Amino acid sequence: MDYIDPHIHMVSRVTDDYERLARSGCVAVSEPAFWAGFDRGSAAAFADYFRQLTEYEPRRAAQFGVQHFCWLCINAKEAENVALSREVIALIPQFLDRPNVLGIGEIGLNKNTRNEVTIFTEQAALAADAGELVLVHTPHLEDKYLGTRMILDVLSRNTAMPPERVLIDHVEEHTIRPALEAGHWCAMTLYPVTKCTPARAADMIEVHGVERVMVNSAGDWGVSDPTAVPKFVAEMRRRGHDEETIRTVVYDNPVRFFAQCGRFRFTPRGVQPG
Ligand SMILES: [Zn+2]
Repeated sequence: MDYIDPHIHMVSRVTDDYERLARSGCVAVSEPAFWAGFDRGSAAAFADYFRQLTEYEPRRAAQFGVQHFCWLCINAKEAENVALSREVIALIPQFLDRPNVLGIGEIGLNKNTRNEVTIFTEQAALAADAGELVLVHTPHLEDKYLGTRMILDVLSRNTAMPPERVLIDHVEEHTIRPALEAGHWCAMTLYPVTKCTPARAADMIEVHGVERVMVNSAGDWGVSDPTAVPKFVAEMRRRGHDEETIRTVVYDNPVRFFAQCGRFRFTPRGVQPG
């Protein structure tokens, strides 16, 4: 089945992974800006990273027939440095008109600190002012429930940002409902260790339905599985779900969410670009 991975950090992956993705049915990826595994020392390092995401990575993906889209921001981990964060935020507008950019992300919270909230709020405001979509990282494990509540509070106060233009990522059983009820899109991350397995994701689909829900691998430089989405497809088939239901989650929903961005130009497989 053709699918889209709406959250994967390809800059951390080798070129062979693009080949594996293409072979497993992946036709497009969206890559949020994130932590690099170390704190960057200057805004210039982020400018280079944004060039990598908007210039180099789409070309590397295209060699394998995978369309590459991305998101720009300073992530929650590095947002602890407020002065550096504001320098990075000032850089973002000059990259926003690049053709593969879908919006601002992945912004959010990591340890739910005051500085993180400040920078999350400022980047959500930038997105609202610029009419950009938002992709939100929710914290891990013990910080997830409180952090998700804090994120939803900030977003609800940002009345210039329609809730359907925001994707709340890494949702789990205890956070998917409040995010959906607030009117946002949600994504479940299929990770080998933490976050969510294909079986848990299928359980959540069975409870909450497929509307405004998608799945991703969040493959990055750590322990992760870039071809996790086909494993979710296999789990859904094993349970007897029909192909249309599965396709809604792994293909149609990412397209619907991304299509709210005026720059989004997606060419389905077999269609001539133009
Ligand atoms: Zn990520």
